[in-house]
Amino acid sequence: MELHQLTIGQAREKLISKEISSQDLTKAVFDRVDAVEGKVDAYLYLCRDEAMEAAREADRALGQGETAPLCGIPLGIKDVMCTKGVPTTCGSKILGNFVPPYDGTVISNLKKAGAVIVGKTNMDEFAMGSSTENSAFKTTKNPWDLTRTPGGSSGGSAAAAAAGMCLGSLGSDTGGSIRQPASHCGVVGLKPTYGRVSRFGLVAYASSLDQIGPFTRSVEDAALMLQAIAGYDASDSTSVNRPVPDYQAAIKHDVKGMRVGLPKEFFEEGGLSPDVKNAVDQAIKTMEGQGVDVVAVSLPHAKYSVAVYYVIAPAEASSNLARYDGVKYGLREQRDSLIDMYHATRSAGFGPEVQRRIIIGTYALSAGYYDAYYGKASQVRTLIMDDYKKAFEQCDAVISPVAPTPAFKLGEKTDDPLTMYLSDIFTLSANLAGVCGLSVPCGFSSDGLPIGLQLQGSHFEEEKILRLAHHFEQATEFHNKRPEI
Ligand code: GLN
Repeated sequence: MELHQLTIGQAREKLISKEISSQDLTKAVFDRVDAVEGKVDAYLYLCRDEAMEAAREADRALGQGETAPLCGIPLGIKDVMCTKGVPTTCGSKILGNFVPPYDGTVISNLKKAGAVIVGKTNMDEFAMGSSTENSAFKTTKNPWDLTRTPGGSSGGSAAAAAAGMCLGSLGSDTGGSIRQPASHCGVVGLKPTYGRVSRFGLVAYASSLDQIGPFTRSVEDAALMLQAIAGYDASDSTSVNRPVPDYQAAIKHDVKGMRVGLPKEFFEEGGLSPDVKNAVDQAIKTMEGQGVDVVAVSLPHAKYSVAVYYVIAPAEASSNLARYDGVKYGLREQRDSLIDMYHATRSAGFGPEVQRRIIIGTYALSAGYYDAYYGKASQVRTLIMDDYKKAFEQCDAVISPVAPTPAFKLGEKTDDPLTMYLSDIFTLSANLAGVCGLSVPCGFSSDGLPIGLQLQGSHFEEEKILRLAHHFEQATEFHNKRPEI
């Protein structure tokens, strides 16, 4: 296999045995980027020199016996995470000139682990979107079919991992932005439990929902990346101080006797494509064949997730994005009065979807409407959390589709935000409840597009969903197929 196609696990073995160097691997990845970036448009910024320097450093460490799992591994980073000295735009003109003076905690953790940062990946502006079409700079294409979206908002990270333009990448997931693009691009995507991974240095979208996680080409790689980024961080008041288990060891344990819960509500949704339904049904059979018990569970309030999320997320966004005012950082449109300057800066700096959400959020939080919208949505959110609590009394993981259809065509949903929002129907509830969830490849549509299976686990039970996904992956071939590009 070509070097850029290796999984992290495979590359790591070759690095440790000195069959290859990190410099060989990093060069192979940049050659691949040079060959396909013109078609895929996954990156907003490439860190060529810094990456080669980090690879040389990793080779020195490996030469001295370093065995850290990510040492010398080239990774892509969604452009929503602060990287010291490297532009971090969030896909927005308002941060077009922003170069953070510090690394986010996940970035310092990756650097400590010896990882090599290839570049910053494209995304929907401020992570608002499901297709990367809301990026102010470019639209990323799905490597499996360049006329289709890679999903979003972490579409650049998913496409880069799928196309061999890195060995793994980081994304952020506020309502599905890791799992949905992973599903559409045929890679593994993991949204950890809220509080498992530090958000320090993650540009905030909706702070009670945002969480950082990996995209990889195997479940074991997702476990390795989670290991490197998980853990308590005093700089993030919502990070939880709990021991981090050994994920790589945990995923190997047997799955016999584990229970997966089938939420009937997720299969009754209109709009679920027959290809997705077949692939998920088949996956359930494969798991049953491995001795996994399937039980019926109910998430009766999940059907309100779209309505609840699209009040809570914009409300938090309207508050978080108030900081972009032309004074502290980013774009400034100079005008004679302060109010005119704010107005001009924010009108020029934010794209239409971001403006829409700021307006919706400000409206939902305004006096007289707060109880009717934000208050009500928060109450329903609690009901959704309770549903999950009950479901996890009966099962180890909830199984469902990730998205109702495989990757849709570019431009297909851009004129109708509501249709776009509905593509998040299966992913939003995990964020509202704070539980973990992942997407693992489980099939292909009749026209060759990848389909992902969603496994959601209770708080801090990433081990269980990774274990089920790893065993499923080992029994199937979907993850071995790469897009021909
Ligand atoms: N697609 C959802 C949205 O537009 C989720 C985005 C995300 O998870 N960042 O908000």
